[in-house]
Amino acid sequence: MKTIQALFIVTLCILFTASPLAVSAGEFDWPLVRVTDRIYAIYGPFDLPNPENRGFRNTVVIVLTTAGVVLFDPGGSAWSGERIVERIKSLTDEPVVAVFNSHAHGDHWLGNEGVKKAYPAAVIYGHPKMKAKVEGADGERWLDLINRVTEGKAGGEKVVAPDKVVNDGDVIDIGDTKFRIYHTGPAHTDNDISIEIVGEDALFTGDVVRNQFLGMMEEDASFKGNIAAIDFMLGKNFKHYIPAHGSAGGRELLNEYRAYLATLKSTVKLFYDDGLADFEMKPDVVKALEDYQQWPGFDIRVGPHISRVYLEIEAEEF
Ligand SMILES: [Zn+2]
Repeated sequence: MKTIQALFIVTLCILFTASPLAVSAGEFDWPLVRVTDRIYAIYGPFDLPNPENRGFRNTVVIVLTTAGVVLFDPGGSAWSGERIVERIKSLTDEPVVAVFNSHAHGDHWLGNEGVKKAYPAAVIYGHPKMKAKVEGADGERWLDLINRVTEGKAGGEKVVAPDKVVNDGDVIDIGDTKFRIYHTGPAHTDNDISIEIVGEDALFTGDVVRNQFLGMMEEDASFKGNIAAIDFMLGKNFKHYIPAHGSAGGRELLNEYRAYLATLKSTVKLFYDDGLADFEMKPDVVKALEDYQQWPGFDIRVGPHISRVYLEIEAEEF
């Protein structure tokens, strides 16, 4: 492990990057950030996929083991997967030996293609439902979508799904490091995994937690399950929580995102009980969520979130 070299590079990146989220067209400008001696992260921007970010918009995790490098969520395009591989080569000569995908949303797995180009032997892991979705219609849909919204700059040619599945409680041994998988049922999706890096006091939460950022909650999401999944993670009491969007932190990060979800749900429930439809209650719900209005993604996501919570409450009432 080239710790000194890595620290030097990280320092250079901090010195010469005006903003860690800045990007010039076609460049991969996001620095490596040290989380622990063996864990690094690259924090992508919060923007939707576009020609400038070429589909890269998530938090990538890099774990150094004695068997090689393990990656979590290698970006949202083949292009970003390739750039991440280049960045890893500035840190270590070791190959990428494994990739974990946190869930089936394309910004977390489309980079598999770029990693496999450089390291065909790398083993990709995901939840069984994630693997099924990506191998089904969802995979092609995401590939088409990313190529369209990036105006062909994502570099994607084919769907690369996980090779192997992992379930709740599984422990994957890679070199000197154990990776423990958690899945507590539907939360952000029905196929989320969170990953403990055993011995590092660190958990990658996937999209079950975002750091001051709002994203999609689709048909397979459960707001109730998401809150329960966060409570489970808080119960584990790790030092480092690494979300799939935004930077790593401690418990406060989970409490904050949990508070958004809980305030959203309880406020919608209040107006639901008063007989209001989702569109009728929206202005008042938005007012109740004023602490979160500055979060990127709030304006485009809050409406769909209210509608989904409304349907969830309706289903719970019957
Ligand atoms: Zn997601």
